[in-house]
Amino acid sequence: MPSSTLRVLALLATTAALFAAGGVRASGGAASAGAQGGRQASASATKVARARPAHPKPPSTSLGQPNDGRLLHGRALPRRGPGFRFANPHGQNARYGTDEVVRAIVRAARITHRRFGGQPLVVNDLSRRGGGPLDHHSSHQSGRDVDVLFYETDPRGRPVRPVQTFFDPEGHAVDFRDLSDPSDDVPLRFDTARTFAFLRALVEDPRAGLQRVFIVEHLRARLLAYGKAHGAPAAVLERLGAVTCQPGPPHDDHMHLRFFCSPQDVRAGCRDMPPMYPWHRALLASRHVEPLRAKRPRPSARAKTVSPEQARSNAGPMNAEVRGWLERRETWRHRPHPGRPWCR
Ligand SMILES: [Zn+2]
Repeated sequence: MPSSTLRVLALLATTAALFAAGGVRASGGAASAGAQGGRQASASATKVARARPAHPKPPSTSLGQPNDGRLLHGRALPRRGPGFRFANPHGQNARYGTDEVVRAIVRAARITHRRFGGQPLVVNDLSRRGGGPLDHHSSHQSGRDVDVLFYETDPRGRPVRPVQTFFDPEGHAVDFRDLSDPSDDVPLRFDTARTFAFLRALVEDPRAGLQRVFIVEHLRARLLAYGKAHGAPAAVLERLGAVTCQPGPPHDDHMHLRFFCSPQDVRAGCRDMPPMYPWHRALLASRHVEPLRAKRPRPSARAKTVSPEQARSNAGPMNAEVRGWLERRETWRHRPHPGRPWCR
């Protein structure tokens, strides 16, 4: 099955992620049992070693800004956990984030999974170990950007393993698989309930510091309407409405989450790109931290990206159905964001 579908139809320097080894933290020493020597000192040393890792990971630090930055002591997102799995479209091992960001993703996926079960959230690229420019992305450099796929169902509402394909204003999509062959197409639906639950968990998490959710306007509207119809608190809807935004590339095939610098990272030189909301300014003020302004990124910080035109020409032959969907997609690709103060 040509994985071309996703690469092609992502069309927009988007995503990725990666299988790679390892747990989040190093395990503590004490590989051999300390009791053998029989000396009490060594036994109690073993106890201490078990209680606390011999070399605890230093806290992470996000430096610079999402489009020109670095990540010190980044935390690796596990390859899988309750309600999520790390995927690998570009093979860049970009599964590193700040401690706060990785924990926030793990918590929100777990909350959604506990409530709904079903297929896990698919997490694509975060940042490389150490951060810096990451191919296919104009940001993702400082451990505070995460791409995730939407939760998806089949037309009867049964959860399916999410694939990266774009959703229309009705919340419909197709997993085209082989782009030249219409007979293998699989219809999909946007799973509004679970996608909303995941975002709600992030919005309600005071430790997360969610700054932005880049998502196409029509899916944003669906999520907010769903929340309203299902009695979500006004404060949640207001906050979710403020942080969600359709950027230039429409983000109709995944969401890009961005998180604020933690107050301690601001002290170390972490810079937030706009917007800076009043509530976050207040939080920083309560910690006596002054936010740093983002700078113009250095040309050397630019990563390799693929233009939509290149992606399309790389895609090879497409059947009429696919071409029809792509044409329809043009109607929402460049839609403005009328009247919302935070969406630029
Ligand atoms: Zn992204």
